[in-house]
Amino acid sequence: MPFQKTKYIWMNGKLVDWDDATIHVLSHVVHYGSSVFEGMRTYVTPQGTVCFRLGDHSKRLVDSAKIYRMEIPFSAAEIDQAILDLIGANEIESCYVRPVAYRGYESLGVDPSPCPVDLAIAVWPWGAYLGADALEKGVSVCFSSWARMAPNTMPAGSKCGANYMNSQLIKLEAMRHGYAEGLALDTFGFVSEGSAQNFFLIRDGKIYTPPLTAAILPGITRDSIIRIARDKGFEIEETNITREQCYTADETFFTGSAVELTPISRIDQITIGDGTAGPITRELQKAYFDLLEGRAEDKYGWLTLVPEYQGAPAK
Ligand code: PMP
Repeated sequence: MPFQKTKYIWMNGKLVDWDDATIHVLSHVVHYGSSVFEGMRTYVTPQGTVCFRLGDHSKRLVDSAKIYRMEIPFSAAEIDQAILDLIGANEIESCYVRPVAYRGYESLGVDPSPCPVDLAIAVWPWGAYLGADALEKGVSVCFSSWARMAPNTMPAGSKCGANYMNSQLIKLEAMRHGYAEGLALDTFGFVSEGSAQNFFLIRDGKIYTPPLTAAILPGITRDSIIRIARDKGFEIEETNITREQCYTADETFFTGSAVELTPISRIDQITIGDGTAGPITRELQKAYFDLLEGRAEDKYGWLTLVPEYQGAPAK
């Protein structure tokens, strides 16, 4: 889907017109994948537009950079503020937010240290990631022939641009075979995650999800669902999961800022449960959206109201 452009993109502290937000082709990131990024959504509530777990996303961005010894020249709190300002300046309500820190233009070689660390933030309207029906009916996925990165190769816990070459192999293969998404194993053969979403399985009323050591990104939606489910009294275990446990699950679903909570109805053409969103999946999905859209109390303090934008953009 082509971009629905907004007015401004935030670059290193300034608001730049969308079409002018460009970088030099010899920037380090273009050649060596040296970026870290975030993805989050805003939601419209009766109180106004809110960002979901804004501070946690900015913190994960800074952590992702730290792993690669990248010093982002803005603090997590400054990034939070920049995101709120940008949403306000663009006069946009429901949107996707993409901050990206990257090694910029100075010299070219594998050593990134001479290159500056630049930060850009964009926001744009974005619908359901896997299509309008996916949230309701679920998606059909396959196991990928590509594994996730081994823990001593590329750190899966850093949301770095280069990791998404692995994700692209998983996604392209799945789509080529007619599936909405691919599900990858880790290099030990246990279930890891999708190309850009965490995985959950339900069996006999108990919820299971792969642990942080299974080459997954520590998803913020994953954490939210774990907390919501525990508060509802469900038992959740973060544990290694095998491929066959997926086939015989009662319910399975993906979580992520983009996919939100999307049921998985078939895996490798095996129907999961009765092939629709199961009752626990539906209960958790409802609780999640009730919170995001302001129908339930924000008891975790996860919503940040976007204040009315004050003042003209600095250019
Ligand atoms: N795994 C990967 C590889 C991802 O790219 C994402 C999306 N950021 C997720 C899991 C889900 O993470 P979150 O819930 O924080 O969006």
